[in-house]
Amino acid sequence: MSAAKFEEIGQALRENQRFAVLSHVRPDGDALGSQLALGLSLKKLDKEVQIWNEDGMLEKYSFLPQAELLIKPPGEPEDVDVIVALDTAIQNRLGTTLQAVRSSKLCINIDHHPSNPGYGDLVHIDPKAPATGQILFELIKSQKLPIDSAIAENLYVAISTDTGSFQYPNTTARTFEIAAELVRAGVDIGRVSQLIYENYPRRRVELLRDLLGTMRFEANDRVASFSLSLGMAGKLGILPEDNEGLIDHLRAIRGVVVAVFFEELPDGKVRVSMRSKSEKVNVCAICEKFGGGGHVLAAGARVRGSLAEVEKRILEEVRDVVSRSS
Ligand code: 5GP
Ligand code: MN
Repeated sequence: MSAAKFEEIGQALRENQRFAVLSHVRPDGDALGSQLALGLSLKKLDKEVQIWNEDGMLEKYSFLPQAELLIKPPGEPEDVDVIVALDTAIQNRLGTTLQAVRSSKLCINIDHHPSNPGYGDLVHIDPKAPATGQILFELIKSQKLPIDSAIAENLYVAISTDTGSFQYPNTTARTFEIAAELVRAGVDIGRVSQLIYENYPRRRVELLRDLLGTMRFEANDRVASFSLSLGMAGKLGILPEDNEGLIDHLRAIRGVVVAVFFEELPDGKVRVSMRSKSEKVNVCAICEKFGGGGHVLAAGARVRGSLAEVEKRILEEVRDVVSRSS
């Protein structure tokens, strides 16, 4: 799928002047870190760079170097030469940022989601890469694009968060080599790790307490799930970003193969988040059946229906797949 070589992308980045660096709605550390890293590198080349995300900068990632450059898209559309879509498996997950671009000559799509259909003009998709931040590091290195400690820290956060802190199986020797290079480029591991992993708001742990109250098991304890209702979210005053990573508490249970997190949304849909611990259970395939996507071991979907309905439909499917896998 990775049709465009780094040389072609590097050339497009050097030859053009005005850039919009975009990523997906409900961004994670890989999305935001990647956007800032590439945006900052382009700025060092004296480019005019817009770094837009529909959700703006999240409170939990506001420690990222130059986080203030990442903003919500403006109401009045602007002309750019190049759109760069990062970490975004499907174009509509760019949300309202595309409406802020009046015209553009070229769209570059850099991603690591296997389900990415390859929209855009210059497409580089590497499903083996554990994070888009890792692809960007290789691009920056091979094309000799600028890198400094701020860019390095953004890349480090992208890679650390998308690899579950260098634990998921797509973490390779190369990932550690890159991490080492980023440390040499100025990343302070102790400081940045605390900012990512030991700086949660209290309400996040209160949310975990309530979620564990809904925890249930099926398929001989090989499937674990919990659910967040709108009522629970309202009571605790939580932000959408607060639940990122809580599903890992289910995955961490011995014997659990699939973990599922259900989140009731105000628009009559339920956000479903799924994790697998076995290559034999492809949660991306399950989520695709419900209009979603992602990776083999981590996927999601938004499914119309009440919380109870969606739980029932999804868990039936998961039970089936898990039973067939053994
Ligand atoms: P998470 O569970 O952390 O929200 O998402 C896990 C993975 O599934 C991510 O790689 C994300 O891109 C993908 N994903 C999550 N929700 C959706 C969705 O609604 N549609 C698609 N296509 N992918 C999703
Ligand atoms: Mn990613």
